[in-house]
Amino acid sequence: MKALNTVKITFPSRSVNEGFARSALSAFAAQADPTLDELADVKTAVSEAVTNCIVHAYANTIGPITLTAALYEDGTLRVADKGCGIPDVSKAMEPLFTTGGAERAGLGFAVMESFMDSVKVRSAPGKGTRVTLSKRLGTR
Ligand code: ATP
Ligand code: MG
Repeated sequence: MKALNTVKITFPSRSVNEGFARSALSAFAAQADPTLDELADVKTAVSEAVTNCIVHAYANTIGPITLTAALYEDGTLRVADKGCGIPDVSKAMEPLFTTGGAERAGLGFAVMESFMDSVKVRSAPGKGTRVTLSKRLGTR
């Protein structure tokens, strides 16, 4: 299916860019005439995905994060990094699983799953991770 509109932004994994990614995505998604609740859900999910790139993918370094968003009948967004990768994706997606120690709750993927219609993760250790999030927008 051909997308109605797309955008792709690449930015370094500095924590200030988490807010930037959230706002940029929200401005793009507004075209789909989402409800305020839908918009808040998408912003929360993108924020979790981008934060994961910042704190896990590039733990002690700075690397590129690419945010791609496309509007079809539903909105799809993709957050990709070229960081450390995830050795066991299904384990990483279990609620409360974290490699981040006491500072992290291990709930980021659970939050993405509860706020979006679908969450897909592809990852290769040493190569990076791609998180694809979809949600139907403008359902009012
Ligand atoms: P929280 O999101 O609650 O602060 P968390 O980030 O550890 O804690 P999740 O977001 O659910 O929890 O992620 C679970 C685990 O998956 C992480 O601890 C990390 O090991 C791994 N992970 C998630 N995203 C990435 C990524 N982009 N690159 C590498 N590892 C990741
Ligand atoms: Mg997280």
